[in-house]
Amino acid sequence: GVEIEHLSKSFGSNLVLDDISMSVRPGSVTALIGPSGSGKSTLLRCVNLLETPDAGRVTVGSQSIDAGTPLPAKDLLALRRQIGMVFQSFNLFPHLTVLRNIAFPQERILGRSREEAEARALTLLERVGLRDKAGAHPARCSGGQQQRIAIVRALALGPRAMLFDEPTSALDPEVGVEVLAVMRELADTGMTMIVVTHEMQFARDVSDHLVVMADGRIIEEGEPGRIMSDPREERTRRFLSAVM
Ligand code: ATP
Ligand code: MG
Repeated sequence: GVEIEHLSKSFGSNLVLDDISMSVRPGSVTALIGPSGSGKSTLLRCVNLLETPDAGRVTVGSQSIDAGTPLPAKDLLALRRQIGMVFQSFNLFPHLTVLRNIAFPQERILGRSREEAEARALTLLERVGLRDKAGAHPARCSGGQQQRIAIVRALALGPRAMLFDEPTSALDPEVGVEVLAVMRELADTGMTMIVVTHEMQFARDVSDHLVVMADGRIIEEGEPGRIMSDPREERTRRFLSAVM
């Protein structure tokens, strides 16, 4: 699972994460919602150590990182490797084929042979219905296809947990559906996931736990259906009526 304890982060005088604690059970899906600027992306980036927290601790599996005592670079890489991240923009390498996009990180980061990495890439592409795109460049793929490829690229590294930052918000709804279907299947395989999303139906159907953030704090959390039908906080109510 993923354990976040008393995490704080400021940019200059702007306190963006204010003492966030949250626990994601192994194999569970947590949906993270809240208004723009509430700190959702920063929280994911702190879990993945793309940002350095000012205070607190992040634990993934058996590996912990304390803000006060930074890890040596190799341990940092080891922890980061355990966490896959998928962004709103797909961030594929434009000059590489789909197959190489998925194989190359496995070779560089895990030291897999080219044969092994490409075989694994093809198996995963098959699983998301994109084996026929293996030889194409990303520009020849639709946005939804590119996002599924980005998911597969992260999965190919064998992460213990996956973080998603609004993976469908750059996509047309009918294309977003394909991406959400892949995420739902991933959840069914028991992957531990944290998903920032405004897709309330996905949050209701797929997530086990819903966390609502505002102004760098968790203002409400619990069973997704309960929060959606009966939010306790006025700010949650306002946010939900804006997105639902
Ligand atoms: P959105 O829904 O719009 O994606 P969010 O909840 O993901 O919003 P964050 O991107 O985490 O919000 O931003 C939280 C606050 O931190 C904002 O006030 C933002 O301006 C600030 N912030 C984020 N990244 C940086 C940075 N690298 N430098 C300075 N300020 C930043
Ligand atoms: Mg964001």
